[in-house]
Amino acid sequence: MSDLVDLTGRCLCGSVELSAKGAKPNVGACHCGMCRRWTGGPFMAIDCGTEVSIGGQDLIAAYASSPWAERGFCKKCGTHLFYRIKQSQQYIVPVGIFGDDPAFSFGNQVFIDEKPPYYEFFNKTENMTGAEVFAKFAPKPD
Ligand SMILES: [Zn+2]
Ligand SMILES: [Zn+2]
Repeated sequence: MSDLVDLTGRCLCGSVELSAKGAKPNVGACHCGMCRRWTGGPFMAIDCGTEVSIGGQDLIAAYASSPWAERGFCKKCGTHLFYRIKQSQQYIVPVGIFGDDPAFSFGNQVFIDEKPPYYEFFNKTENMTGAEVFAKFAPKPD
């Protein structure tokens, strides 16, 4: 288990800053069709829990992609900022906005059954199918 880290990130244009306290530096990838449509590829992100503060709120738009979650982005530059579970206010934050932290390690992949055949990660990770994710987590993460 890795030590917890405090992270600070920003969007491409710098209008929005996001910081997270006590996050596990464990990078996960989601291969589901919605995430891939949203990001253009697998969604690689860190579960930052609820201890997240965001500056530049007026420039953030949040799209309700399901009854239980929203996907936030910067209105000015389009950078993806978070996947937020409404009920718990838990933030899953794209790892790219934090820059490169040596503490990051790639640990898990979800919706592995929705991964298209044209790419495959070499990393050894814990992998879960969509059904396994739904069975383990409530509300559903997608
Ligand atoms: Zn921006
Ligand atoms: Zn997904």
